Amino acid sequence: MKVKFLGATETVTGSKHLITTPSGFNILLDCGLYQGVGQQTDSLNRHLGFDPATIDAVILSHAHIDHSGNLPLLIKQGFIGSIYCTPSTLPVVEVLLYDSANIQQNDIEHINKIREAKKLEPLKPLYTKKDVDKCLKHIKTIPYHHSFFLNNEVSFNFTDAGHILGSAVVNLNLKNEDDTIINLTFTGDVGKYNDLLLKDPECFPLADYIICESTYGDKLHEPENDAEEHLLEIINYTCVEKQGKLIIPAFSLGRTQEIVFILDKLKNKNLLPNIKVYVDSPMSSSITDIMREHVKCFNEKLQEYIETDSDPFGFNSLIYVREKIDSVKLNESKEPCIIISASGMMDAGRIKHHLAHNISNEKNTILVVGYCTPNSLGGDIRSGKKTVRIYGDYYNVNADVKIIDSYSAHADYKELIKFLSCQDKNKVKKIFLVHGENTSKTTFKEKLLAEGYADVIIPNKGELFVLH
Ligand SMILES: [Zn+2]
Repeated sequence: MKVKFLGATETVTGSKHLITTPSGFNILLDCGLYQGVGQQTDSLNRHLGFDPATIDAVILSHAHIDHSGNLPLLIKQGFIGSIYCTPSTLPVVEVLLYDSANIQQNDIEHINKIREAKKLEPLKPLYTKKDVDKCLKHIKTIPYHHSFFLNNEVSFNFTDAGHILGSAVVNLNLKNEDDTIINLTFTGDVGKYNDLLLKDPECFPLADYIICESTYGDKLHEPENDAEEHLLEIINYTCVEKQGKLIIPAFSLGRTQEIVFILDKLKNKNLLPNIKVYVDSPMSSSITDIMREHVKCFNEKLQEYIETDSDPFGFNSLIYVREKIDSVKLNESKEPCIIISASGMMDAGRIKHHLAHNISNEKNTILVVGYCTPNSLGGDIRSGKKTVRIYGDYYNVNADVKIIDSYSAHADYKELIKFLSCQDKNKVKKIFLVHGENTSKTTFKEKLLAEGYADVIIPNKGELFVLH
């Protein structure tokens, strides 16, 4: 039995790990896209590093593009098998892959303009919407806790990872030539405990080998005693005292719905001022609709909440804006309001025009609710730059910039250790750390060794390990 690490080794993106059984059956865990710009990323995505026709099955941990985003290319390059995920992952993956195809198309048009000027041949997009259509036909859904046999050597089940809607930990039973069983668990991405919407990461079956994410292997989340109160303070300060607009850049999947849910609670308590709230992102609207259909996947507190309010993502002054024309109209409005828009890192999507129109007015506030890479527009705003570039023009940052850092879709290192504590340290032979920057992995490795785990490995890209 072998495992080969094909992605998310040196970086947090491009998740891909290959299991090969003694009879040569190949199972790919995730097929994520490397994210970032530049030729190197493009090349990493175009060249998978294996022949997709040799893969027998794919098991997908969750819908995020860095885990699912290269599935259409896998099929385009010859994969004919099935892709397994949880039932609530499927609709999310559908939305995200079509959006990804759109991004690929726009990116390639931009790249080809530059290539044309240099008299170079145009490139084709990584994949198109038609490739996504074909890809979706390969997906089969398996509910949590349901054992599924891929053949007589391999079975698996999903347990809840508490990271995003549908996210799963993949627990594999792999039969050796001598009929002994190897239990291998792939954590995918692990969520934090006590999330507003999601269930806690679940205990998983005892494993011999664990492929574990380590995004926050060296970090602890800042405690936020009351995110609801903090948000309300910022709303009152901006929309009541300053009579301005509160602009909240937020990821379409997860963060937007968390913010909307807090606002819904404030509305029900009659604490929300009498202002309009706009969710201005077609993708956020689509994902919110999916979440409404899957409320049973959420935690007990939310289940209790919906007994008295059947729609936790909607109230009478909340407007989901789908059409572009309505999005542009918001620029003309002088009324105090809240605008929640994507993308979270502020580099793409409608948030850019809201920032361009509102960032130089001191009456307004930009509320940053998530991590932004330092080289993104969000990174510039978050770090307190006084001038930022949007659509090629420079804007003074006169609006207040506030940060709430308590939202996160990933467990910090204490939570990861808590998540692993359901395991028998004497049984766990190796923990492989993936999906983290180098310092996160090395720090987390030390912490796990100190916890008493015998062998913690940071695999390199392409490295292969034999499992006994
Ligand atoms: Zn993820």
